[in-house]
Amino acid sequence: MKYRTAQSYKEFKCIGGICEDSCCENWEIDLDEASLKKYMKQGGEFGKRLKDCTKVKDKQFILNGTRCPFLNEDNLCDIFIEMGEESLCETCTNFPRHVEEFENLKEVSLTMSCPEASRIMLAKKEKISFLCEEGTDEEYGLKHIEPVKSLAFWKKSHVNKLDKPLFEVLYEARQLMFDILQNRQEPIAKRAALVLVLGNRIQELIDSKNYAGIYKTVEKYRKKLETSDIDKLKKEWEKFSSMYNKRVTEKEVWLKQILNMYEGLETIKAEWTELLSMGMDVMHGRDNLKSMLVAAGMVQEEEPGEETDSFLRNYAVSYQEFMRYYQEKEYEFEHILVYYIFNYFLGAAYDHDAFTKVKFAVISYLVILELDVALWLKQQKEFLYEDQVLVAHAYSKEVEHSYNNFESLQLVLSAHPILDVEHILIGLLS
Ligand code: SF4
Repeated sequence: MKYRTAQSYKEFKCIGGICEDSCCENWEIDLDEASLKKYMKQGGEFGKRLKDCTKVKDKQFILNGTRCPFLNEDNLCDIFIEMGEESLCETCTNFPRHVEEFENLKEVSLTMSCPEASRIMLAKKEKISFLCEEGTDEEYGLKHIEPVKSLAFWKKSHVNKLDKPLFEVLYEARQLMFDILQNRQEPIAKRAALVLVLGNRIQELIDSKNYAGIYKTVEKYRKKLETSDIDKLKKEWEKFSSMYNKRVTEKEVWLKQILNMYEGLETIKAEWTELLSMGMDVMHGRDNLKSMLVAAGMVQEEEPGEETDSFLRNYAVSYQEFMRYYQEKEYEFEHILVYYIFNYFLGAAYDHDAFTKVKFAVISYLVILELDVALWLKQQKEFLYEDQVLVAHAYSKEVEHSYNNFESLQLVLSAHPILDVEHILIGLLS
């Protein structure tokens, strides 16, 4: 079996007891058959505890409040201590690894829902690069996972069957997307916009079964990327960006709708809800907004009414100011986009829905950015690397690790009219 991972993959080491957001809290842990059997056969005092704490029929542990019942007072795992690391179930062994399987290839990443994995990814200024080597599950810290046999009901095909020719061409397209996203001569919003437009074109070609057309499109974009045509693209983007002032209200309305969409998801962690409602406060101009802006020195205490208008003006200014303030660390957003494209885009070789994967990456970047701006305002215009880790990992935990949230979001992304190319491009204007 071949394994493709980011170069930094093997740097990860769980920090266990000192982790600020242990993965052994807030989640139901699904137990695989073999582990469940092993736990139910365990004798002695610990065996009794295992039986008392397990819903055998549901194949889950009975949580102690929000905590795994085997997470002890030192935030360490009692199963690991009593029975050894090899006795951890598949879910616990594999976390925080995300695996996509394509016949004899596994693509494995460290999910951002683990704060330590986020830290490793976001800390590096250099571009993310990938390695592909022969190996075994064990060498990559994995326990075997049964691949999903069928897709969610709303997808075009119900059987999870790899379309090999499509996989080959999407692999080329993804490589191009990485190159566009990592082209640091361009602002990050423009890179995201280019990938979005490319994703949309690829989807049209998939729908018409024109895979050769995808190769041609990839070639065309690559030429543009490598030649002076990029100047033309630059001009087009500048023209497009100059629309921002005219369309700022439109952008705000759209972003409010997007955040509302996230508000409708199941809550996995209280911190996420707090971050989101802080973002909503900024968007909606609720009561505490003015005090936030006053604290950040953007609005005078005695400034008269007209809060909505002045808020929109202030918001546009604050958004641009944040981008200038955080310019040096723009690579963090690049990593976030590359992360979502790496994890999900090739999955379209199963369900033929490439554009939803691209939209997921771009919307994830936009939502994380919105919450960053809100947090920066709340913290009196201070935003550190640890804040980015907090927002990015809370986001990932909310959307990537709840089956319901992930599926609902993919469904909305694939079909909602406000999530077409034009609307998302307005969201990217800056
Ligand atoms: S979230 Fe990551 S660092 Fe924290 S306990 Fe889980 S695997 Fe370890």
